[in-house]
Amino acid sequence: MAERTLRVCALYPDVMNIYADRGNLLMLERRCAWRGIGFAVTAAGFGERVDPQAHDLFYLGGGQDRDQRLCALDLVQTKRDALHAAADRGALVLGVCGGYQLLGHGYALADEIIPGLGLVDLETIRSDGPRLIGNVAIEVDLDEDGKRRVLAGFENHAGHTQLGGGEQPLGRVLKGHGNTGSSGAEGVRRGSVIGTYLHGPLLPKNAWFADWLIRRALGVEELAPLDDTLEDAAHAEARRAANV
Ligand code: GLN
Repeated sequence: MAERTLRVCALYPDVMNIYADRGNLLMLERRCAWRGIGFAVTAAGFGERVDPQAHDLFYLGGGQDRDQRLCALDLVQTKRDALHAAADRGALVLGVCGGYQLLGHGYALADEIIPGLGLVDLETIRSDGPRLIGNVAIEVDLDEDGKRRVLAGFENHAGHTQLGGGEQPLGRVLKGHGNTGSSGAEGVRRGSVIGTYLHGPLLPKNAWFADWLIRRALGVEELAPLDDTLEDAAHAEARRAANV
C-alpha cells in the first residue's frame, strides 16, 4: 500500500465535464501513480453529502448553464456547509469555468440567479455580448515568492466574473479574456480555494500546476521528478496557441 494517498472528491463528474474537464483528475491520478503515491477519488453526485474531513482536494469542472443550474441547486442544498468546512481546514477546492463561477455568490442569467457556494466574494453575470472564447495564458505567482509561471489553456464563457474588493485573482492575463475581457484578471485565489476559466483540460497542459496541487494537498515540499517530455510539449503548444 502507498504510504501517502491523495484523496479527491469529484463533484458531479459526469455532468460538470465540459471540454473533458474530468481529464484533470486523470492527470492527478497518473502523476501520483508514477511516484507511488496512492490516489483515491470519490464521486459526489446529486443528493450525496460530502465529508469535509475525508478529502484533500474537492474538484468541480465546467458546464453548460443548464447543467450548472441543476448542480448549483444541489450544491447549495446538500454540500455547501461541508465545502465551507473543508476550505476552512485548508483542503483545496478547485473550480474550472462553470465550477469556478459556482464558487462565488451566484451566476446571474437574464431572468434568474443561479446560486453559488459563497466560498469567495465574486459574482458572475451572463453577458449578451459575444462569448469570451479562445486560447488564453495567464501569469501566476502561486507561492507568492516572486516566481512567476504561466498557465495556458482555453476559455469559452458567457459569464463575466467580478471579484469583490478583498479578493485576489489567480493570475494576470497575458493573452485572452480572463474574468471579464477587460480587467486583466483571471480566476480567483483565496488560500486553498482556486477558480479559473482555463480548460484544456487545465492540468494536462500545465503539469507543473498539477504537481503544485499534489504538493499542496499532501503538504509535502517536493515530489520525485518525472519525465515530462510530452507534458512540456503540450504546455509549449498551449503557449504557442496563445502566442505567449
Ligand atoms: N455556462 C458558463 C458560461 O457560459 C460556463 C461555461 C463553461 O464551463 N465553459 O459562462
